[in-house]
This record gives sequence, structure tokens and C-alpha cells, in this order.
Amino acid sequence: MKLHLASGNAHKVAEFQSLARASGLDIDIVSAKSVGGMPPVVEDTGTFVGNATKKARALLGALNRAPAWVLSDDSGLCVDALDGAPGVESAYYAGPEGDAAANLKKLVNVLRDTPLGRRSARFVCVLVLLGTDGSEVVVEASCEGSLLPEPVGGAGFGYDPLFVPAGHSATFAEMSDQEKNRLSHRARAWKKLAAHLGTLVAPNSAP
Ligand code: IMP
Repeated sequence: MKLHLASGNAHKVAEFQSLARASGLDIDIVSAKSVGGMPPVVEDTGTFVGNATKKARALLGALNRAPAWVLSDDSGLCVDALDGAPGVESAYYAGPEGDAAANLKKLVNVLRDTPLGRRSARFVCVLVLLGTDGSEVVVEASCEGSLLPEPVGGAGFGYDPLFVPAGHSATFAEMSDQEKNRLSHRARAWKKLAAHLGTLVAPNSAP
């Protein structure tokens, strides 16, 4: 089964490819880039579900072929001390150009006076699976943790260098892909989705 990912984010593509391989299902995650790119979508619904649905519908419409399956991810970091911000605005926190380094720097500065005990946060991920047969599956998951005062680690993307998942001492950016993929919001949402995907595809016989 081919799943067209409604995202041009190479990190997300790699994470989903790795999650799909680990799930043992015969699923091939294909980047929107390989089918002409992601059509422009204004992420203005104000919710993870709304934005994920909008992105999935845009790519499904652009694919212009049947049967096809589209998977979209809308995710973000919700910080308790900021009443849930940056949340759905995570990608554009520092401005509309979506500069990940500037977003990280802004968050470090905004939280500069927030004490260690009040830096709880969670990553949230909503996945929407759409099929040309009209099927639609929506799942949501989160990963609790806290934020360091300064970035640590060079792996991952986005806010990973600040985020320490609950029960751990390393940031996502200090973890291997496999470790992050055992804990992350995306991995947890994928696990829920895989239960649905399992009814649509056969187990992968490849080792
Ligand atoms: P989206 O592509 O509109 O869903 O925006 C997601 C944004 O949330 C990214 O650009 C990051 O800023 C942040 N984000 C989501 N998932 C992660 C993650 O796993 N690590 C770090 N940042 C993430």
C-alpha cells in the first residue's frame, strides 16, 4: 500500500518511513515531493485536526488518480506556561517564513524567566488518513515532557533540542532515530493509525 505523505518536511518523511518499516506492514511512505510537491495550503483552521484535514484533502485533490491514499500530519509543541502556545503555530512561531532556528531561538527567549519546575510541555500529533474511496481516519496522540533553558543535541528537527520527554534525561535531539521513534507523539499516533492500516493491508513478508 502506497501512502502519499502530505508534507514536504524531509524529517517527517524519514520518521514515517522508519515507523512504517517497524510496524511490519507492507506500507510505502511516499513524499509529496515525488508526486509534484505539496500544493500550497494556508494552515489557518486554528486546530491540529483542521489543518491536517486541509493538507490531506489538498494533496488527495492534486494526486488526480484513483485509488490512492494520503496521510497528513499536523503537529506542534504546546507549552503550559504559554497557555498552549506555540501549538498549531509551531512551524511559524517566529514568522511566516517558517524558520526552525528562529522559532527555537524565540521559544528560548520567551521562556528565559520561566523556572525549571514550570517548563512542562507536550508535543501533539494529529494524523489524517484519506482514501479516494471516501474513507477517513483521524487519530491524535501526545508526548509529555519539559523544556530545557538552552538547546542540547544535534539530531531531529524543530524544537527537539529543547524537549526532554517525561521519564528521560536526554532531549529528542540527543536521541537516535530509533529512540525518538519509540517515544514521540508521531510514533504514538502512528501506532493508533497502524491498527486501522492493518485492516487495509497485509503484513509485510520482507525481513
Ligand atoms: P506542521 O508541519 O505544520 O505540522 O508543523 C509542525 C511544527 O511543529 C514543526 O515545524 C516543528 O516546529 C514542530 N514539531 C512537530 N513535531 C516535531 C518534532 O517531532 N520535533 C520537533 N518539532 C516538532
